[in-house]
Amino acid sequence: MALEKTKAVVLKSFPYGDTSKIARIYTREFGKISVIGKGIRKSKVLQSGYLEPLNYLNLIFYHNTKRQLQIFSKAEYIETWSSLKKDFRKMSYGFAVAELTDKAVTGVEPHEELFQLIVDVLKSINSVDGNMNLLFWYFEIHLLSHMGFHPSLSKCPRCSVKFDHGRFSLEYGELVCDKCNGDMGTPISARALGILRNIQHGTLEDVISIVPRKGDRQEIGHFLIEYMRYHIEGLREVKSLKVMEKVFS
Ligand SMILES: [Zn+2]
Repeated sequence: MALEKTKAVVLKSFPYGDTSKIARIYTREFGKISVIGKGIRKSKVLQSGYLEPLNYLNLIFYHNTKRQLQIFSKAEYIETWSSLKKDFRKMSYGFAVAELTDKAVTGVEPHEELFQLIVDVLKSINSVDGNMNLLFWYFEIHLLSHMGFHPSLSKCPRCSVKFDHGRFSLEYGELVCDKCNGDMGTPISARALGILRNIQHGTLEDVISIVPRKGDRQEIGHFLIEYMRYHIEGLREVKSLKVMEKVFS
């Protein structure tokens, strides 16, 4: 069992027994791990607050590759995202990022770019006071790409024709041209598709300045959820997505 140090984002945590706490954590060096803070809720030395969701930490833990559950040693905050934790709307988006990561990532292989994406998006949710949808869409599109499901947004993956609008095909799980999908599937207008492309190719800073209309928001939000549910197992039951579909669309 080795003592390891890594940058980490806490995705979720829950109490265990009378005094302990278990947390699911996405780390830069070790991928997704579960950590137990033994006696942490009663300890004066160890601080239980470290294992709260949406914390960004330098984490030190005892690593045993044969075990599912690793043992918390200590931590320090890299940054504290106080605005993210005080604002209900920001927190909802933050939790959705954490829940999506938890559901979508299954293995323990580290993925440094994905780790950086999570940190960058949470940091922006904390610091930006604009349209949170855009930051969340950015997260969804880039999460998909990192997981190997890069959505084709410029040409039809069935017949390779370039398109400026399309339909999400439930049969193929892709955005396809009118010809390939008949009248089936949810349509995406040229405006909404343009925004999706900007999010796919832009930086977080670029994305914040986009101003979507209500109709665009519905089309884009709906498309991304359908796309993710089709490609990533286990996303059908993501609670925070359902809440966001209702509250923020
Ligand atoms: Zn086509």
